Amino acid sequence: MLGLMQNWPLTVDRILEHANNAFPHREVVTRAVEDGQLRTTTYAAVYRRAKQVTNALRERSVTVGDRIATLAWNTDRHLEAWYGTMCMGAVLHTVNPRLFPEQIAWIINHAEDKILFFDTTFTQIVEKIAPLLKTVQLYVALTDREHLPQSSVPIVAYEDFIAGQSEEAQWGGFDENTACGLCYTSGTTGDPKGVLYSHRSNVIHAMAANQTDVFGCGAKDVVLPIVPMFHANAWAIAFVAPMCGSKLVMPGAKLDGPSVYELLEGQKVTFTAAVPTVWQGLLGFLRENNSKPTTLKRVAIGGSAIPETVLRAFEEDYGVEVIHAWGMTEMSPIGTTGKLLPDHYEQDHESQIKAKMKQGRTPFTVEMKIVDDDGKRIAHDGKAFGRLLVRGPSVARAYFKNAGAKNERGECLETCGYFDTGDVATIDPLGIMQITDRAKDVIKSGGEWISSIDIENFAMGAEGVANAAVIGVAHPKWDERPLLIIQPKPGASPTKESVLKFLDGKIAKWWTPDDVAFVELIPLGATGKINKLALREQFKDYKLPTTKAAE
Ligand code: ADP
Repeated sequence: MLGLMQNWPLTVDRILEHANNAFPHREVVTRAVEDGQLRTTTYAAVYRRAKQVTNALRERSVTVGDRIATLAWNTDRHLEAWYGTMCMGAVLHTVNPRLFPEQIAWIINHAEDKILFFDTTFTQIVEKIAPLLKTVQLYVALTDREHLPQSSVPIVAYEDFIAGQSEEAQWGGFDENTACGLCYTSGTTGDPKGVLYSHRSNVIHAMAANQTDVFGCGAKDVVLPIVPMFHANAWAIAFVAPMCGSKLVMPGAKLDGPSVYELLEGQKVTFTAAVPTVWQGLLGFLRENNSKPTTLKRVAIGGSAIPETVLRAFEEDYGVEVIHAWGMTEMSPIGTTGKLLPDHYEQDHESQIKAKMKQGRTPFTVEMKIVDDDGKRIAHDGKAFGRLLVRGPSVARAYFKNAGAKNERGECLETCGYFDTGDVATIDPLGIMQITDRAKDVIKSGGEWISSIDIENFAMGAEGVANAAVIGVAHPKWDERPLLIIQPKPGASPTKESVLKFLDGKIAKWWTPDDVAFVELIPLGATGKINKLALREQFKDYKLPTTKAAE
């Protein structure tokens, strides 16, 4: 027997419809890409202008299933283009501008995007890739005519693109499983792979992301997504904020400490989200200027493991709750958060900090388990570590055009129906997961695994260390041994001895790096994570001092 409730497909047009009905006057504030000035609009205006985008797209023969690309910062106009595209059933493809131009061209060609919306800061990239692009018919700069850049590529100003279009347009009316958004993973191994979100997966994920023990936002919140919309849907915030009526603050192109602080204070931000490197910039600024955030209540940090210094600075120095989040593009992206459980609240502060350093537990709609190399589930005892597998309604089943397929149905799933995250983790009896490494970064020393992340986390706390990375270097006796690479803080000169002494007692003796190398800059990838591939290349001929002894 079927239930007798209404059929109300979960499509993202409902989200902006709701914002327009329930919170029409709630503000959306943007730092303009053109001049850094702030401008304010409302959900009602975003709604009307998104409808104009839909009409302008339809006029250009864009239809359900067509892909539309954006190469853009978080702004009101990006939000309008986002909803204007998705709500009519076309697919919004967010492209990461931090990739190499050749990679961007490859991705846009692979997606067969018809129109490219871009911010004027990326005009040079567009000029470079335009001759390579095979399917793009129109380039729209997200600005007005006055700020339209001179260019060799024919460009239309966004304001002209939507000018004169009707503010009425039919949205929705298609199956909730219709494709909605496309985002390519950075492809540190092989070509980038497209994750194709559906309307249903996005709506369910946004509701999951806003559970109290995840982001927990409401109408009184002021939300600043620093995490870009091109990085896995701004971790759902572009859906969550209009869903619950939070004021939205869009930082545009300026993500440095002073600019972020100005927004936090000027807009009375209560919740914000970004990768750890952004927070290191802000915290440095706060310390140097003896400032503190006065309205901020919660900060979500994820994308890579959170350094303990960052966690302690927010929680202990400024009284801001840290929500440590783990996830990935293929998971829409949220997989777990490090919110405490009742058991933790009975523990002392130090134990709570330790618990929060872990990647945490799953919200409803995510299931996870760890398995050994044969795919057999291993104990969730907090000690054994294995491959981390996940499943749920917002987890990828296959990649766009069947890239990376593992079975004849084109799916990228294990035989048990789970998606392999490529991470290695432990899960404790309370269900708290801790990443020990990415499968390809684990250091295999004498048949045992050493976690590069653990060593990096501790090394970050040593005097004079700005950033730290650990990679495995070939060793005649142990296969691989850890090499610690340090980027010193400006003006500081930590030494091998000082750093190793700091690590002493914090990690197992046999985990102690065999050597410490110092570099001016540790390379970061397009999503702000340490680029270990580049480091491994740079240090591929490195001879550890312990090698000689073993030879
Ligand atoms: P890509 O896989 O393209 O680098 P993602 O943003 O999808 O980009 O990265 C997902 C990966 O980032 C995860 O599989 C995990 O290895 C890492 N990651 C994300 N959040 C955390 C976290 N809180 N702690 C440790 N690693 C994390």
